Amino acid sequence: MYNGATSNQIVDRSAAGNGPRSDTKKASFLMQLNLITSNDIPLKTCTKCGREFPATTDYFSVDRHNANGIRSCCKTCQRAYTAANKERYRENSRAHYLRNREAILERQHIQYIQDRERKLERGRIWYAKNRERVIARTKAYHAAHKERRQEYYREWSAAYRERKSELMRKRYIANREAILERGRARYAETREHEAERKRVYYAANKEKSAAYSRAYNKANLEKRRAARRRRRARELAAPGTHTAKDVQRQYELQRGRCHWCDVSVGDDYHVDHIIALTLGGSDGPENIVIACPSCNMSKHNRLPTEWDGNKTGRLL
Ligand SMILES: [Zn+2]
Ligand SMILES: [Zn+2]
Repeated sequence: MYNGATSNQIVDRSAAGNGPRSDTKKASFLMQLNLITSNDIPLKTCTKCGREFPATTDYFSVDRHNANGIRSCCKTCQRAYTAANKERYRENSRAHYLRNREAILERQHIQYIQDRERKLERGRIWYAKNRERVIARTKAYHAAHKERRQEYYREWSAAYRERKSELMRKRYIANREAILERGRARYAETREHEAERKRVYYAANKEKSAAYSRAYNKANLEKRRAARRRRRARELAAPGTHTAKDVQRQYELQRGRCHWCDVSVGDDYHVDHIIALTLGGSDGPENIVIACPSCNMSKHNRLPTEWDGNKTGRLL
């Protein structure tokens, strides 16, 4: 670039002439500043503005068609010319691009492939050299931006969760049969192995497992029962379905007493279908009542009208 500093350099050079340097300290200082590179660089006159500059690529652009490998006019003149002909240049290069589009893209692609390997390799070498420094910097950065990063992560994961569940739902709907089939296949494949694994685990952790199941069953008793009834209803292709909550509501409605004999059932109750599932009754909440075990087992599969009640004979 041609500026104040370089113009000083030219003055310096002409003042120094070809004589021996008296002030070598100053010269080496200027060399460090990159103001003087060598005393042997010839000067070259710009064909446009007529000024003299060192014949280097600092002042003249590279031009391999020229004998000395650089342009005949200086960079300042070249820039001025380019600026004056901007529109024309732009149109030319656009026309050129359109004419040679395919070839250019192909060349760029090849260049990209070649550069990719080189870049990757350079990156690997650089990282191997700077690994410790990179890790330290990353750690420092994370520590300094902890709050913001956590905030950002929360936002991101909330958005991501939503997007993901929507995607999963769509995918499931689109591939339902295939997914179910895959699940069945996996189940069949791993069944033996899983069962064996569980057997081994239970044998080794008998006490812990038993305590865990007891606690779990107690907490989930009605859920388990409801699940069992639902399965049975499904097997019998019964209409309707109920949940543990429906049972809870019915229990409260009946104040914890047997629907048939009015005995207080406490925790020891059965959920009875008024019309038995085997007779085509529904598994829905409208067809379930709380009964004592004795009534439930006595009534069994009979219609309420066919059954004369257990002991007290209270009917529907
Ligand atoms: Zn010039
Ligand atoms: Zn009863």
